[in-house]
Amino acid sequence: MHPFFDKSIEYLKGVGPPRADILRKELQIATFGNLLFHFPFRYVDRSRFYKVKEVTDDTTWVQVHGRITAFQSFGEKRTTRLVASLRDETGIVELVWFQGITWVKEMLRTGVEYVIFGKPSIFNGKINFVHPEIELYSDTQQQQGFNTQPFYNTTEKARARGLDSKGILRLQKTLIQQLPLYLPESLPDSVISPFKMLSLREALVNIHFPADGDMLKKAQFRLKFEELFFIQLDLLNRKLIKTEKVKGKVVTQIGDHFNNFYNHHLPFQLTGAQKKVLKEIRTDMGSGKQMNRLLQGDVGSGKTLVALMSMIMVLDNGYQACLMAPTEILAQQHFNSLSELLSGTSITIALLTGSTKKKERERLLAELADGTLHFIIGTHALIEDRVKFSSLGLVVIDEQHRFGVEQRARLWSKDDVWPHILVMTATPIPRTLAMTIFGDLDISVIDELPPGRKPIQTSHRFESARLRLIGFMKEQIAKGRQIYIVYPLIEESEKLDLMNLVSGYDAICRDFPLPDYRVSIVHGKLPAKDKDEEMQKFARGFTHIMVATTVIEVGVNVPNASVMIIESAERFGLSQLHQLRGRVGRGAEQSYCILMTGNKLSAEAKLRMQTMVRTNDGFEIADVDMKLRGPGDIAGTRQSGMIDLKIADLTKDGAILELARAAAISLLDRDPHLQDSTNEILRRQLDARKAGKNDWSRIS
Ligand code: ADP
Ligand code: MG
Repeated sequence: MHPFFDKSIEYLKGVGPPRADILRKELQIATFGNLLFHFPFRYVDRSRFYKVKEVTDDTTWVQVHGRITAFQSFGEKRTTRLVASLRDETGIVELVWFQGITWVKEMLRTGVEYVIFGKPSIFNGKINFVHPEIELYSDTQQQQGFNTQPFYNTTEKARARGLDSKGILRLQKTLIQQLPLYLPESLPDSVISPFKMLSLREALVNIHFPADGDMLKKAQFRLKFEELFFIQLDLLNRKLIKTEKVKGKVVTQIGDHFNNFYNHHLPFQLTGAQKKVLKEIRTDMGSGKQMNRLLQGDVGSGKTLVALMSMIMVLDNGYQACLMAPTEILAQQHFNSLSELLSGTSITIALLTGSTKKKERERLLAELADGTLHFIIGTHALIEDRVKFSSLGLVVIDEQHRFGVEQRARLWSKDDVWPHILVMTATPIPRTLAMTIFGDLDISVIDELPPGRKPIQTSHRFESARLRLIGFMKEQIAKGRQIYIVYPLIEESEKLDLMNLVSGYDAICRDFPLPDYRVSIVHGKLPAKDKDEEMQKFARGFTHIMVATTVIEVGVNVPNASVMIIESAERFGLSQLHQLRGRVGRGAEQSYCILMTGNKLSAEAKLRMQTMVRTNDGFEIADVDMKLRGPGDIAGTRQSGMIDLKIADLTKDGAILELARAAAISLLDRDPHLQDSTNEILRRQLDARKAGKNDWSRIS
């Protein structure tokens, strides 16, 4: 990089040591490069003037021109507020000041034409601009045409030192004026030219001071692309190194176990999506390289079966397989359903969890070590334990608990041939996020449900529908169905939530009295033994209604349950609602999900309810979820550290991400070790990233 980028910020005109300190502490801007890469978060079009009648409180930033017709002061000393009325030919807006009133009164005159600029709000039924920016209309005349104002993030402390958005803009101006005419490129020409990208210098100039709308778009494209490209290059490079170094057990044979299972024990036809994914897995495992694959698919899409068949493939080639689940209940359930599918075959399978008795455990460990046990299902206890395999070929991990497993995979192998890894997740995450967090894995998607499933009918109801709901529940129970009622339980309001749950349970018991009806209750405070017993009663069909907290979110499979009622549904996130809904719709009957909420809902809560009612598609729901909450809050994504982006936005820049990834792939295809002299710049960037310096503007 050019030494210009490394100059300390205090040498910039208008900064000096005290402000440099603020910039460093508050905005992590220590160098010229850091400031240049402090990009605007928003641009406002100042070429367009709004008429007063066009202004509403949901237009963002606007400018209006007109004359002030009157000033009025309200309130006492410390609470004074100055209000000016500004009129154009279509109406009047109010300008409001709480501070600097004397100054405003001195500067502004009635009858003079001004341009005001700000974010409108509504107060007492009138459009208000609080502390607007004001200029003489005559001064702004010459600035017509393209006139976009950038806005910069800053902090309260920085603002107090004159480093508000405008203050930062002034510094950017000074800096850009000094920018060397020649800046070396950060991307090789082979990447830049196919996209006709702006040069780095042009992009940096135009991101702060766009010459026009088109140049702004091009600058954004270049810088977003670059940011995403380096992440992808980094991930793909790591993946490449791994595939070169690490061999996988070779799984090429389709043998007796597989054929026998496929022809005599598989209770149904595979879906097209299952076949496609099995092929992908088979190709991976036969390649001699270690497979690292993520299998995404909605609840009930048949991932477990794909896992089982992959395990059987491995067995046919003389290896063992293990499957790990995040909880004991889930491990138990996998064990039950897999044992059932395998019954009548000669394949041996066992369950190993934290509560496996010592004697049993010792026997299992011995059988794993001598190879008589083919498949082991368990919790994380499996990796913590001193489990030794005779010859492990495949590790299947249910849900996103892959961290830590990869290192373990190596310990399980006696040589440098590692077992394959298949990570399954039922929490669909948007493709952009998956490519970023799991960009070093291959991704398979099951995007098709087994045939004959009736889509769950979801509705949103208010308290006023309670009586009808009870009637509906009785109908369903009369038809032999069972019902879940889920209450929120959030740690911060745990006591209150527990009270709601218990009083909800009491009310249900009154509406559904013994001996005709039986109701179970399960929550986290119940002793494990009781919890288990209640679950069992419901699973057996003895109780009709299960009142519970989200403890049932994972790991309950009761196909006869066809109604899921979620109380205070507005308090749940989208992905949680979707997971809960996935508890029903597992049998042949029509299933229902009913979202009960209070009458007053935030706009966001409304959108969540509408989304749930509109679609059963987990990927669509994940997309909305990411848009609402931002990528950083989607479960399990924080630890990846890949999503602290400066300019790209995973919720909006999916198309650029695809291009960046494709470009990284083709570059590594041509030059896997970045040995070409034109790619040296890339190699240096990657080394810097490995050294923990993610922001390349900070390195020299
Ligand atoms: P997931 O693990 O993706 O949630 P499962 O593998 O548990 O889904 O499958 C859900 C249910 O669908 C199971 O009862 C399973 O036996 C059944 N199933 C899986 N694949 C098929 C298929 N191709 N046709 C019919 N039913 C299937
Ligand atoms: Mg499953």
